[in-house]
Amino acid sequence: MPLKVDLSQFGLKPFRCYARFDNGQEEKLRASFDHRFAMKCFVDALEAASAHRPGALIGGVPIGESTDGQILFQITCLQKKENGIACDDFFTAVCRRDCVEQFCAELEEQYQRPAAIYLPASGPQLVKPRAVRLHHRRGVKLVSPNGLPVKCVDRTSRWGNPFEIGRDGTREEVVQKYREWFLTGAEPKKVGRYVVDPQSLRDRIHELRACNLACCQPGLPCHADFLLEQASQSEVA
Ligand SMILES: [Zn+2]
Repeated sequence: MPLKVDLSQFGLKPFRCYARFDNGQEEKLRASFDHRFAMKCFVDALEAASAHRPGALIGGVPIGESTDGQILFQITCLQKKENGIACDDFFTAVCRRDCVEQFCAELEEQYQRPAAIYLPASGPQLVKPRAVRLHHRRGVKLVSPNGLPVKCVDRTSRWGNPFEIGRDGTREEVVQKYREWFLTGAEPKKVGRYVVDPQSLRDRIHELRACNLACCQPGLPCHADFLLEQASQSEVA
C-alpha cells in the first residue's frame, strides 16, 4: 500500500532533520491505515534495526510519501529493561530522502541509543537517490541511507587523501591540495598502503559513480565531497 499523504492538513512538530506527527495528528493519520498494515510497519521497523545494525534499539522503515516528495517513516524505539526489551516509543515522521542519515543521527542523540533506518533503492514511486557522503568510523558498520552502495574513500583505500592535516596544512588546505593533485598532478603519492598515481584515479573515477562515499564526519571539509562531485560528472565506462 503506497501511502500518499498531503501534509498540509496535519500539524507536524519540527526537529532539525525531520518532523513528527504530533499526538492527535498521528491518530488522524493512523485512521487511514488498516490494522494489518500498521502491524507490518511496526515489525518491519524492528527487523530493519536488527538487520541493518546489530544492537540497534531504534528502527525505521519508509511507509509512504508525502505529496511534497518527503518520505514517511515508521519509527519504533525499544528500551532495554531488566527482564528483556520493551517498546517505549512508536511514531510516524517525515524526512527528505537526502537527510535520512542525519535523521538517524538525530534520533540517536535524542534517545541516547543506536538507531538504524532502512531506505531501499528508489521504487517507481520514489525519487531517484542521490549519492551522499557518510561517516566512516572504525568498528561501526555503514548503513546505506538510500540504497546506493557505499565506498570507503579514507586512507584504507586508494581514494584516501595523501595530504595530512597538520603535516601538509589545515583541513581546508589538504582538501585543496587533493583537488589540485587529482585534477592536474603527475606525481604518485603514498596513501596508506597504496602508492597512487593521480592519473589512475582520473581513469577510475567512474567506479565511484552513484555510490555513497564514506570518510570523515559530514559537515567537515573533506576530499570526499570533491570526489562525489567528480564521480557524478563522470561518464559511465
Ligand atoms: Zn575525509
